[in-house]
Amino acid sequence: MTEAVQGTNDDAQVSKLSCVQRGYFQDRFLQYFVRKATRRAPLINRGYFTRFSALQQLIQRFLTVPGQLQIISLGAGYDTTWFRLMEQGSAPAHCFEVDFPEVTQRKAAIIGAQPELKRVLESSGSISGHSGKGHLHTARYSLLPGDLRDVQQVQAALLEAGLQPGQPTLVLAECVLVYMQPAESAALVRQLGSLLTTAACLVYEQIRPDDAFGKQMLLNLERRGCPLLGLHATPSLQAHEQRLTANGWSRATATDLDTVYRHHIDPAEKRRIERLEIFDEFEEWHLIQEHYCITIGINDATGILADYGFA
Ligand code: SAM
Repeated sequence: MTEAVQGTNDDAQVSKLSCVQRGYFQDRFLQYFVRKATRRAPLINRGYFTRFSALQQLIQRFLTVPGQLQIISLGAGYDTTWFRLMEQGSAPAHCFEVDFPEVTQRKAAIIGAQPELKRVLESSGSISGHSGKGHLHTARYSLLPGDLRDVQQVQAALLEAGLQPGQPTLVLAECVLVYMQPAESAALVRQLGSLLTTAACLVYEQIRPDDAFGKQMLLNLERRGCPLLGLHATPSLQAHEQRLTANGWSRATATDLDTVYRHHIDPAEKRRIERLEIFDEFEEWHLIQEHYCITIGINDATGILADYGFA
């Protein structure tokens, strides 16, 4: 099962690259992490566009907060956010990415073999670690191998890599917690919630497993050997909020992706992407989008995250 769960990373990057190649959004680093580019259907491209735009918007807003900012990306896979932020000159003081050792080993090998990625990494300080073991460190970036179900080990690795628990921190969990048992994801959220006093936690994940579409979604992943273990424990927006507020986060708001697309994506951007491909599957589009959500959890010891959320 672990191998199948790791495989969801390749799948996500292929879909994101499909968006890049069709002009939905830009990411010139992603190409290095995809072995075989595949064109996805317009429906999939639009879904990934919404996911990408919404999360990037929330990341950019976080980066306006004062302080020595940090990002922790849980189950980061081959995510390229840090490379893009470095290139834009807006990277946080430190970014920590955690994934299974097999994934961080492959990521470290790709970074080492691609001059453009290596150049960005080198621009963030001298490199240490052991890329063969999936460890990479600079003054501003840490790639950490670990199993997120072992919360003590994850916390120890973050602290050893230089995490400052008192500094403003963005925790990213993009399509990750749902592959863990509910008790395991709750423990992880609780560990970080009690460690971080000024933090936002962004969780992107599936919801509504009980209707016809939700059942199909579950079945598709089960057939591929990676069941959505956490989905029945977080079937609704309220359940997503409660997972955070019951586990160390002082407040939380969950929004489904249909609402995000309607109300929180720049109208000019929507007009632009809606012209990219022929599209007539409107009913299915809304249905799919209602089955994903973004939950924002907040711990705000000093009040600097009072307005944090979607614009
Ligand atoms: N966050 C990335 C993105 O959205 O592009 C990758 C998402 S991919 C669907 C899920 C990732 O979570 C995979 O890279 C997988 O290896 C990682 N993952 C799932 N369970 C994990 C665990 N228990 N420990 C470490 N990583 C895990």
